[in-house]
Amino acid sequence: MGQYDEDIIEKFRLSGRILRETREEMRSFIRENMPILQVCEKAEALIREKGGKPAFPCNVSINEVAAHYTSPPNDASTIPEKALVKVDIGVHVDGYVTDTAFTACFNPDYKNMVETAENALKIAIETIRAEISTGKIGAAVENAIKNRGFKPISNLTGHSVGRYLIHAGTSIPNVSQITITKIKAGEVYAIEPFVTLPDAIGIVEDEPQKTIFRLVKPKAAKSAAAKQLAKFIENNFRTLPFTERWLKDVVPSAQHHEAFRELLTTRALMGYPVFVEATKKPVAQAEHTVLVEETGCTVLT
Ligand code: MN
Ligand code: MN
Repeated sequence: MGQYDEDIIEKFRLSGRILRETREEMRSFIRENMPILQVCEKAEALIREKGGKPAFPCNVSINEVAAHYTSPPNDASTIPEKALVKVDIGVHVDGYVTDTAFTACFNPDYKNMVETAENALKIAIETIRAEISTGKIGAAVENAIKNRGFKPISNLTGHSVGRYLIHAGTSIPNVSQITITKIKAGEVYAIEPFVTLPDAIGIVEDEPQKTIFRLVKPKAAKSAAAKQLAKFIENNFRTLPFTERWLKDVVPSAQHHEAFRELLTTRALMGYPVFVEATKKPVAQAEHTVLVEETGCTVLT
């Protein structure tokens, strides 16, 4: 069987339960014209109230933005009217990560596209089992999306998760691929189809903006304030992504900006670029985390 003993599987299950409850509460919480900051803070507070920790900042990605936007500190932006909003959230319990997403649809024209993402996810969950190649799951997702007249985003993938790891080494494509990579029993995977319009190019590009960061070189900082900030990040988030919002009052506010900039320029931190569909077409997403078994899987989220 797999690499995890029953105690660890129980932590993944608890992580998934906290995340499922949070997602369902967020579905009814999110509204047009709401500050994005309020959405992020609500999701992260719900996760903590339920006894989990955010595995990464709540992502709120609007219309052609596919992923990786979270509110920076004091973000004044709001959910536009008629928006398509991907809310992507993660929990860890003792480092064991689960990851889920839904798309809030405030434009009836895109309802079918959101349902297509959910249906593609359902088909991927029915397809995944021990020893299947990741490319076959990609083929099932691609067919499910194209059969309904839409297009998958070809350069975004699902991924195995691990302890303090969002991407634990294996990718699950959203398009057909010839690959020798196989799904393993006892492993935990996040599956996440992204869907766009048929006339889109169906790939995402990096934007210059970065709102999510990860510590990669804890010893690179030189000034006392930057070292203190790096220590806090290491102790609290380890190898997991975080937002500058979670660093309030770690160092005196007059020194914060300079210290954070030092961590970036010394490459102590890496930043995740915001991903945008290259032809600026709207994107829908659905995501669950599953525990794979010999003949199928259990949805944890
Ligand atoms: Mn996710
Ligand atoms: Mn994911």
